[in-house]
Amino acid sequence: MKKSSGFYALVLAFLFFIFPSIQTSANEGMDVYILPNGGNIYQEDRQTIIEKSPAKSYVIILEKQEAWSKVRINQLVGYVKNAAMSPATSKVMKISSGSSPILRETNTKAAKQLTSIPTGSYVRLFGQMDASFSLIQTGAAIGYVYSSTLVKPIGTKMNVTYKNGAAIRFVPDMAQPIQATLKTHTPVFAYPAIDGWFYVDSSAGSGYALANKLQKNMATTTPPKQTSKKQIALTFDDGPHKTVTRQILKTLAKYDAKATFFVTGRSVKLHPIVLKETFAAGHEIGNHTFDHVKLPTLAAKNAQLQITSTNEIIKNTIGQQPTLFRPPYGAYNKSIQALTDMPVILWSVDTLDWQHRDASKMLQIVKKQVKNGSIILMHDIHQPTANGLDAVLNYLSAEGYTFVTVSALTTP
Ligand code: ZN
Repeated sequence: MKKSSGFYALVLAFLFFIFPSIQTSANEGMDVYILPNGGNIYQEDRQTIIEKSPAKSYVIILEKQEAWSKVRINQLVGYVKNAAMSPATSKVMKISSGSSPILRETNTKAAKQLTSIPTGSYVRLFGQMDASFSLIQTGAAIGYVYSSTLVKPIGTKMNVTYKNGAAIRFVPDMAQPIQATLKTHTPVFAYPAIDGWFYVDSSAGSGYALANKLQKNMATTTPPKQTSKKQIALTFDDGPHKTVTRQILKTLAKYDAKATFFVTGRSVKLHPIVLKETFAAGHEIGNHTFDHVKLPTLAAKNAQLQITSTNEIIKNTIGQQPTLFRPPYGAYNKSIQALTDMPVILWSVDTLDWQHRDASKMLQIVKKQVKNGSIILMHDIHQPTANGLDAVLNYLSAEGYTFVTVSALTTP
């Protein structure tokens, strides 16, 4: 029996009535797979090879068929054998403040624009495609955004505590459909979203959940790796410095230690090469304002500028935004925190190196105060700090500690 086109128009109108907020887009509802060992992309005849894709290429499934799938790889559309593919994994990233990137169909500036992603949203990152673009999922939509708009968020280990579980949604809005419900006691990583909501990530599903369905996991208020490994985060503030930072980099390399450097914009401007060397050696870079000012004493606009101008100069120097923020003197309040998406990182062990300028005192203080999960504060602008570091790392290594970045310490 053939139905009239009028009937289909009615069905369509009805669907739009139920789902008024769903925007149709080419990649919506699709999956991302990976070609672990690479593979051939064929034309529709399944015989003519269009391209040989290297190992670990990401493909967007446009149409899943029995033994083959129609896929998109960047600008290319073709067919791949299902046997060559496995589902891709993704991780949580955040859209950096001030940017609301366009999700594109392919990894080119001229590509079809699918949707615009609001500032501060959480998205799933599959991987970086090239120098500019990353493949991501936002809600149900899959596409490409400029990698520079993504920042790594820091989550807290929590549990679903509400007796009926926690419903998760694509957007933090009660009016939107529920995608799944996480059972009571499900462990999640929770990332703060708009008031009253978290973005939660778990093996049972990911999305936005109401904050009152979750509780902080008390067992992990100390860093999650405590039971398995002894780890600490070394942090160095106020650099880069032309000679002191370089001496510290050498000592860190000797102990295979990764550290976090909270740099000021003005010092980066003076010694961009030193920052490049630091980043290239695998260390994490954080923002420590442009002029090393007490932020709460400034007008909001100027405080913001202290942070954003430093983000900018760091990005122009190493090619990516800093991931963390440490306010000078540890001085901040709620309104300062609201100026940035970056987590505020203070410290748990203060070596007071800036005060005593004594290489041996640093070791005494560390010996007394260090424990698993410590974040140790030092400054890479004082010569005695660089001179005393070897003894500190020698002691801590002998105690079984390894040295990781702040992000590695605070995320799984
Ligand atoms: Zn400082």
